Amino acid sequence: MRKILIVGAGQSGLQIALGLQSHGYEVTLMSNRTADEIRSGRVMSTQCMFHTALQHERELELNFWENQAPRIEGLGVSVAAPDSGRAVDWVGKLDGYAQSVDQRVKMAGWMETFAQRGGQVVIHGAAVGDLDYFSRTYDLVLVAAGKGELVSMFERDASRSVFDAPQRALAVAYVHGLAPRPEHPDFDAVRCNLVPGVGELFIMPTFTNTGRADILFWEGVPGGPLDAFKGVKDPSEHLALTLELMERFVPWEYARATKVELTDANGTLSGRYAPTVRKPVGRLPGGGAVLGVADVVVANDPITGQGSNSAAKCAASYLSSIVEHGDQPFDEAWMRSAFDRYWDTAQHVVKWTNAMLGVPPEHVLNLIGAAGQLQPVADRFANGFNDPADFENFFFEPEKTNAYLASVRPAA
Ligand SMILES: Cc1cc2nc3c(=O)[nH]c(=O)nc-3n(C[C@H](O)[C@H](O)[C@H](O)COP(=O)(O)OP(=O)(O)OC[C@H]3O[C@@H](n4cnc5c(N)ncnc54)[C@H](O)[C@@H]3O)c2cc1C
Repeated sequence: MRKILIVGAGQSGLQIALGLQSHGYEVTLMSNRTADEIRSGRVMSTQCMFHTALQHERELELNFWENQAPRIEGLGVSVAAPDSGRAVDWVGKLDGYAQSVDQRVKMAGWMETFAQRGGQVVIHGAAVGDLDYFSRTYDLVLVAAGKGELVSMFERDASRSVFDAPQRALAVAYVHGLAPRPEHPDFDAVRCNLVPGVGELFIMPTFTNTGRADILFWEGVPGGPLDAFKGVKDPSEHLALTLELMERFVPWEYARATKVELTDANGTLSGRYAPTVRKPVGRLPGGGAVLGVADVVVANDPITGQGSNSAAKCAASYLSSIVEHGDQPFDEAWMRSAFDRYWDTAQHVVKWTNAMLGVPPEHVLNLIGAAGQLQPVADRFANGFNDPADFENFFFEPEKTNAYLASVRPAA
């Protein structure tokens, strides 16, 4: 049976590992942390996943927490007005629910399952030199190590990378005690609060080590007032700053957050990174080649909450490419074709995410505003988070946006 090494035990690495294992491949998973270290470590993401990505997990019967995790049935958008009121406020309904399962819970659980099913787990932080050796002993080496140092093996694709610097400063806090949204307490939703020129606050329910919780996630324009978490090491200071900024910029969300407490001492995260697309084949000093997976090759800013979704889609696509290739060699041509197949989906995520990082043009402001009066617009926008390719039809070009709005506006 074919031997495959996967470096990195995140969404993409574990999903492919478990998928290949179920097809009878001999899979080795290399992780720089044990399952227990992941479970008790720092939060890594907000990991809100929409229907298509969740469906890939269900197909592999990996939806272990589906009945415990809150079902996110809507996606709401508010735009802050200069007087701290809301210039825009609506919620779109998702056709299929979304869910966020803390990656600490999911990755630790999946890693243990992989080992229980006979998979080999090697706890080791792989270096480029290790991969040189392994590329000769395995039929295929997949690098699914996220945004860590191993990306240096993969050349930046300048033609597909719009930015060379971080576009947002990120600050996450997992909390218990957030009150329901007063407007729609009857169903769970992701809340996207846009503060023009300043940044965004995302709030979403999640399932973590201590049960149901909510995530407060600030994305701040670098150098602006939300870019304030850099030297903050103390978790309670991080939460206090999160709340202070909420009171100042999004008081309607602060109003329901006055009693929150951190889920745990590792429930905060801050950082920043430049959105980057890389060439899919990593070259090793000894001449071998490895294939990059998910964030290694396409890392988007989390403003559109797409990274885990994309990791699941990349894993599903690569799994099909590997299985369909049978016993033929996994050469560089195959690696490029596997990536191209994934890029068919990923390119839409990159285009839309990069657009959301910029100053919105007038037709996009009109679209977001119109969603407040026209429920079909709100619903379509919300469902675009599941299938970003649909934004091609009504988001980027003013003519298409206007034609779409005209088609849904009731006749005068
Ligand atoms: C603040 C924030 C919020 C986010 N919110 C969302 C969201 O709401 N929705 C969404 O879809 N996405 C979101 N994302 C993005 C999402 O978390 C990532 O895109 C996704 O986890 C990428 O999966 P991956 O498998 O490529 O890599 P990762 O999940 O990063 O996994 C990589 C793994 O490899 C390990 N590793 C690294 N180097 C080595 C090495 N040398 N040897 C061995 N192991 C190694 C790491 O420890 C890690 O376990 C968010 C990201 C951030 C930072």
